[in-house]
Amino acid sequence: MPNLDGSNPGNRFDVECVDRPERPRIGISACLTGAEVRYDGGHKRSSFPHNAVANLFDFVPFCPETGIGLPTPRPIIRLIGRDGAPRAMSVDPSVGDVTTAIQSFAANRAAMIDELDGFVLMKNSPSCGLERVKRYPDEDAHAVRDGIGVFAASVMERFPHLPLEESGRLFNLDWREAFVARVFAYAHWRVNEAAGWTASRLIAFHSRYKYLLMAHAQGRYRDAGRLLANLETGVEARAADYIALLMDAMRTPISRGGHVNALAHLQGYLKRHIDGAARQEMAALIDDFRRGAVPLLNVITLLRHHLSRVDEPYAKAQVYLNPHPRAAGLRRNL
Ligand code: SF4
Repeated sequence: MPNLDGSNPGNRFDVECVDRPERPRIGISACLTGAEVRYDGGHKRSSFPHNAVANLFDFVPFCPETGIGLPTPRPIIRLIGRDGAPRAMSVDPSVGDVTTAIQSFAANRAAMIDELDGFVLMKNSPSCGLERVKRYPDEDAHAVRDGIGVFAASVMERFPHLPLEESGRLFNLDWREAFVARVFAYAHWRVNEAAGWTASRLIAFHSRYKYLLMAHAQGRYRDAGRLLANLETGVEARAADYIALLMDAMRTPISRGGHVNALAHLQGYLKRHIDGAARQEMAALIDDFRRGAVPLLNVITLLRHHLSRVDEPYAKAQVYLNPHPRAAGLRRNL
């Protein structure tokens, strides 16, 4: 990933950090793409904010229910059971329990899913829903909203760090931005993992993510420092722990206070380079953002403008300034 001014940040910390891919591949529940695979013969394209993210990713559709041979249209499936591991049951007794078939569908596609950088799942589905899916303690009981779709649970179990998000939550600007940033970070991680972890590559990678991690969670930022303090042995295991930490920290959106913290630290790199008036303007803008008077993009734009003119490669290379393609405009309304 080049610096803000397009230059290479040099070998102080980038010596072995592979560039971020430009266009991650993500899985998606097929009905969200417009495929007419739902139980009622329809689709749910309207449940996915296509325009906002369509140009960022290549999508790989999956429909576990039609994938196991169920027809469209078909009788509905419900999660039924009391024991924390409910079964996915068709209301058609001749079809019955499809849990194992859906789990096998996920297992048979593990190699494909392993090539993905994220997954968008249809909310509320007994197959694809990520959380709060209706579960019936028994066939005649009222539903409680604590279930996980069988396919979603299988993907989560096999790929615990893969960024997953429900379609509905992507309508929320904060959650959408957080998910897209997480997908790009995971994609970046995967290309570096494919290149093979060395101590210097892992340090170089973390160097890029320091202020993004700090913005998300100051405590996790300190944990990462401790995790990578001594990399003489066990680099691959430490790398696995690091991605678990990073993905966990990035699971929820950055708070306003988290942004202010990261911005204040990055502003510090300008101290030696810009005059008092420019420093005051920068500080005032950060304060305006803290009070909700201006969007994040205004602050980032001024920060990037100053950084593009100074020799501060460490600050310039921070993913926090550039967590996803600028053309997506995901920070315009934060
Ligand atoms: S929610 Fe999942 S299983 Fe149901 S139609 Fe959509 S892709 Fe298929």
